[in-house]
Amino acid sequence: MERKTKVVIIGSGPAGITAAIYLKRALIDFILLDKYTPGGKVNLTGEIENYPGFSKVTGPDLAFKFFEQLQAMDIPIDYGDIRTVEYLNPGFKVVSDEETIYADYVIAASGTKERLLNVPGEERLTGHGVSYCAVCDGNLFKGQVVAVVGGGNSALQEALYLSTLTKKVYVIHRRQGFRAENRLVERARKTPNIEFILDAIPTEIVGDLQVEGITIENKFTNVQSTLAVNGIFPFIGMNPNTGFLKHFPILNEQGFLLVHENMMTDIDGLYGAGDINHKELRQIVTATNDGAIAAIDISHRVQ
Ligand SMILES: Cc1cc2nc3c(=O)[nH]c(=O)nc-3n(C[C@H](O)[C@H](O)[C@H](O)COP(=O)(O)OP(=O)(O)OC[C@H]3O[C@@H](n4cnc5c(N)ncnc54)[C@H](O)[C@@H]3O)c2cc1C
Repeated sequence: MERKTKVVIIGSGPAGITAAIYLKRALIDFILLDKYTPGGKVNLTGEIENYPGFSKVTGPDLAFKFFEQLQAMDIPIDYGDIRTVEYLNPGFKVVSDEETIYADYVIAASGTKERLLNVPGEERLTGHGVSYCAVCDGNLFKGQVVAVVGGGNSALQEALYLSTLTKKVYVIHRRQGFRAENRLVERARKTPNIEFILDAIPTEIVGDLQVEGITIENKFTNVQSTLAVNGIFPFIGMNPNTGFLKHFPILNEQGFLLVHENMMTDIDGLYGAGDINHKELRQIVTATNDGAIAAIDISHRVQ
């Protein structure tokens, strides 16, 4: 199938959804595509306490609110797993697993995927005790012992969430200091069933058919020990979903998109929005910010 439109938005997380809302209001023709569920990573988040308008909301509830807003504005989300984006100078050919779309502008808002620990046992036991989504899988570990690996906001937030379901949560972190907000660290420290294991690096996930433990090594003493756990949740950062853009000279060393203030890359008409961009802070508010700026910039050029 072939279609033509003004703008293709790749990804329906907060960045893509916001871009869609702004383009719709500017009366610009566009196609919003995603290979999974609308809302993106928000669907995978336990509780969100830092998005204005909601003192406390679960990720899936906020994602549903986004979806309801799209429905109310009559904005459809089409299915599509984007494989390549080709620059036709001017314009783009966007190829998904289902169709080819020709567009004048592209907004890449395809976010990131969790970084792997890359230790023996991880791949084999993913789905058998290793999970990258506490909201999706936390319930499977009710009353059991789990380990969260990482020291950023996501790790601490998800450790707190898991502490409400499980008997015990180890937080394994390779340093003494945390990148997470102090408030989250303090809350975790005060939670009786969370135990911090610091200066420790995971070296292996053990278990035959199901996770039985995680082997860690102390960074300074090199002493190894194995903690008996039923579940392991790595939250050690992310890699950008920019595979379909890798032939363009617009990515930094880690593969994140380099954009200007108007969210456009050095390729005329190709924009980046949200976690996919090279930036300091990857949050819902910063993703929505980027989506709005990209859409408005396009609307100024179209009109
Ligand atoms: C555990 C966890 C907790 C978090 N907690 C918070 C919080 O409390 N507050 C906060 O503000 N932020 C939080 N975040 C961060 C927040 O979720 C992200 O910053 C935000 O979702 C980024 O939005 P995005 O639209 O850029 O990308 P995403 O939300 O990642 O959406 C990208 C979309 O693109 C789609 N996609 C990817 N590749 C393709 C492709 N090839 N073709 C088509 N579609 C594709 C994906 O399916 C996805 O739907 C958390 C993140 C995690 C992981």
